[in-house]
Amino acid sequence: MEMYTPEALITEEEISLRIEALGKAITKDFENEDLIVICVLKGAFIFCSDLIKKINRPVSLEFISLSSYGDSTNSSGNVRLEMDITANIEGKNVLIVEDIVDTGLTIKTLMDMMHVRKPKTVKLASLLFKPVKLKHKVNIDYLGFEIEDKFVIGYGLDYAGRYRELPYIGMLNAGN
Ligand code: 5GP
Repeated sequence: MEMYTPEALITEEEISLRIEALGKAITKDFENEDLIVICVLKGAFIFCSDLIKKINRPVSLEFISLSSYGDSTNSSGNVRLEMDITANIEGKNVLIVEDIVDTGLTIKTLMDMMHVRKPKTVKLASLLFKPVKLKHKVNIDYLGFEIEDKFVIGYGLDYAGRYRELPYIGMLNAGN
């Protein structure tokens, strides 16, 4: 029978505690300010929905979709814009919410794309960061967890479209 219980790397409880702290920090940093949150699809959708519930500021939500990985665990080395946001971000505070920064190519491309549109500020929240493979300079303002160079799935992150629904971050081993 197929195995469908990948080993947990970060538990539901650990994620929830960390998101609570990130939400508090964001709330504090944006005191008296409104915020446009840009959720990077598809991987960040669960993180983003849990995070905005912990931000005690007026938030408007946008979605963007980029692709850098196909159905494999290796980066293809280029980033394509698949779906853009609909809001005008000029003069606005923007918080980009990403699932994971690996080489940094996706987020660097997205940051460059957003800066051209002249927002007031652009900050980045990323659930995960793998420093080992980083190739592009990326500043993560709100980081969930730094992890080793392992391919992770769950809590929004997939492998070939699967495992997004897992409530925790797991590791993909041979046999999963
Ligand atoms: P980067 O452009 O930073 O190399 O890669 C970022 C994107 O690659 C993420 O948004 C995510 O879609 C994918 N990615 C990188 N590492 C992993 C991983 O360990 N697991 C999964 N599921 N996706 C990853």
